[in-house]
Amino acid sequence: MYFYNFEDYEALFDLIDYSRVQAGLFFKLIRYYNLKSIDELYVVCKAKRPKKEHVITSNIDSHIARAIDLLLYPKKELIFPVARFYGERLKAFLKANSFEVLFTKDLLRGEPLIYTIDLIVKYNSQEALKDKLKEFYLFDRFLNEEKGRLEFLSKRGHIFNLYVANPSNFGTLFFILSFKESLLEKLRSIFPGYAFALNGIEYGGKVHTFSKEEEVFEFLDMQFIPYELRWDGESIDKAVKKEIPQLVESKDIRGDFHNHTYFSDGEGYLEDLVEISGYLHYDYVGVTEHSRTQKTGNGINVIDWYMERDLIEKLNRDISPFRILSGLEVDILGDGGLDFPDDIIKQMDIVILALHHPEWGTLDPNEKIAYGMRSGLGSILAHPKDRYWGRKPFFELDLSYLFENAKRHNVALEISSIPDRIGFSAEELKEGKVSRVKFAINADAHAPGYLKNMDIGIIRARRGWLTKEDIINTYTLERLREEGFLKNG
Ligand SMILES: [Zn+2]
Ligand SMILES: [Zn+2]
Repeated sequence: MYFYNFEDYEALFDLIDYSRVQAGLFFKLIRYYNLKSIDELYVVCKAKRPKKEHVITSNIDSHIARAIDLLLYPKKELIFPVARFYGERLKAFLKANSFEVLFTKDLLRGEPLIYTIDLIVKYNSQEALKDKLKEFYLFDRFLNEEKGRLEFLSKRGHIFNLYVANPSNFGTLFFILSFKESLLEKLRSIFPGYAFALNGIEYGGKVHTFSKEEEVFEFLDMQFIPYELRWDGESIDKAVKKEIPQLVESKDIRGDFHNHTYFSDGEGYLEDLVEISGYLHYDYVGVTEHSRTQKTGNGINVIDWYMERDLIEKLNRDISPFRILSGLEVDILGDGGLDFPDDIIKQMDIVILALHHPEWGTLDPNEKIAYGMRSGLGSILAHPKDRYWGRKPFFELDLSYLFENAKRHNVALEISSIPDRIGFSAEELKEGKVSRVKFAINADAHAPGYLKNMDIGIIRARRGWLTKEDIINTYTLERLREEGFLKNG
């Protein structure tokens, strides 16, 4: 396997899988710049050379640089999607070697930041597992070993931590490790006669062990708690009363509202979005390019918007009943006004409001958002909480004011599926739900493959107790229209 002088194939292929950017584009960059390594690719993308030199027209080079940084360079803390990516790699390796293995701890709960990649293996012989791990393509060296636990460092500087559970007690161990540690105290207070320990649950003078986790819930007469709720003490209270709601799931999602193509700063065509939406069994996909003042995002003008809308109408005739929703990610300007004429915005199916430049003008950013919502033209507010992970927040968000306005003006708040846009915390989503705010989970695709990141947003939503009702992507087009989220069409 040789392509010019490029040497880091293993890392490149992981980068392609994780970033969901078209594989062909990487080869184009490698060939054009005669790249030899990932480090060279990083330097070229970081300097935005491909864009400056017209090798690509989109902003995908900066996305690639971010993905390299997050995925391939050592980090003390990993964002959840990166930890999950590596966790899945090890899981697949172990499964191929006939081990039964699951995620555990922070990774299982989808915590936003993860320090060690924790898995639990059902196995009798720790020695045999240890030998096998040395064959894992990312294995570097063992850091720690004790009875029932193996810790190793990967070649990319990430720490893997494996719990080895005897099959007869696998259920108990899995149950206990799955909860945030501070919640064990809560379990003890709710079940005073029980002692929860890794080797079994002591009750009535006897230690009970369980091979399956379901048996533990049965034994305690509790409803099953979804993994994403095991950070929250309230989940235990509700499980005892059997009042845990049915959280949103992948199969509930009917579409995605917020995506970009070559018309603005995306790396892909309308047809590509349609194709991947079909693969995901969606009924609709929104196309929302950046608006004209969004220079870094190749914002489009009115003429471009009409042109794209005409293309969408043409395509829609061919692909019915699937629908491309034609819209715009419209900037909220310094005075709270919108970056496109109202009469054009009124012709759109879906309107995503976005405050990319809170520093423009003198108005408080929270007020700018409120003005934008008050226009009555918006369907969704894009990425309300933050910029990319690791960068300083835009401004201090007034959450209760945001919720109040979102509810009043019927604007759904976005939960981004972009791996490094962590967005609302689980607690904040819970608060939004109490305020009866609606949410939309969006890929914000800048390459069509990003649509497949939807499950990241779903996990974020589930951690905030959100159900199908709370998420407008689970609605049919008819319902979206009835409830005013779909403006036309
Ligand atoms: Zn945006
Ligand atoms: Zn966007």
